[in-house]
Amino acid sequence: MAAITLSHVVKKYGDGFPAVNDVSLEIDDGEFVILVGPSGCGKSTLLRMVVGLEDISDGEISIDGDVVNDKAPRDRRLAMVFQNYALYPHLSVFENIAFPLRLEKGKYPEEEVRRRVEKAAETLELQEHLDRKPANLSGGQRQRVAMGRAIVREARAFLFDEPLSNLDAKLRGQMRTEIARMQRRLGTTTIYVTHDQTEAMTLGDRVAVLKKGVLQQVASPRALYEQP
Ligand code: ADP
Ligand code: ADP
Repeated sequence: MAAITLSHVVKKYGDGFPAVNDVSLEIDDGEFVILVGPSGCGKSTLLRMVVGLEDISDGEISIDGDVVNDKAPRDRRLAMVFQNYALYPHLSVFENIAFPLRLEKGKYPEEEVRRRVEKAAETLELQEHLDRKPANLSGGQRQRVAMGRAIVREARAFLFDEPLSNLDAKLRGQMRTEIARMQRRLGTTTIYVTHDQTEAMTLGDRVAVLKKGVLQQVASPRALYEQP
């Protein structure tokens, strides 16, 4: 069974041309799918529908075979990592990572919070920095804290919306390596939106190309970028 299935998914804002138009795609368990396409082609809209932040106009989205069209974001067990990581400057790294668990008041006993945060910190090699404030971290460490927030939810899948696009080239390269490593360790199903061909080549199992809301092609990065 696919981890995430999109079946004839449509999004219309008002009565304009559909922002996402009849998109069907099956994403396997553990697969890393890159979503590319020009600005305005519907990439963010697609991610937001999967995570549940946007209603879908037509079609179906399933997670592990369950239709989630009417499920609230918190019931989909997905974690979204946005382009602008907003960390809370007054909170420690530990509390920044714990934040999504604290939001669901009383659901996670303190020892469960601690267990999850420490596990996420280990995956991201942040164990030494849990007591620090974001201002005392490097850019790369801050990005890892933001990813820790996604990991701590023990999400079924990760959705990334151009997470590295605001970084300089050096940090982007480092973070690409970090994400690849995290993916190898966790093997979590991922949809990753990017403009960057290197990211697509190094991270993606498959690349899905969206244009004007329509899925044009889904292929391995090699097949796509090394075409004669
Ligand atoms: P991308 O992420 O590929 O840049 P988006 O999903 O942001 O594309 O946008 C796809 C299309 O939907 C664009 O034409 C955009 O203007 C339109 N759109 C996105 N969000 C809204 C909104 N909240 N209301 C109306 N139109 C929107
Ligand atoms: P409410 O119904 O409480 O007003 P929502 O249903 O919009 O709020 O979202 C609340 C919950 O949804 C959050 O506690 C969080 O677990 C989850 N959530 C919100 N945004 C995201 C996101 N970008 N990625 C993943 N989960 C999210």
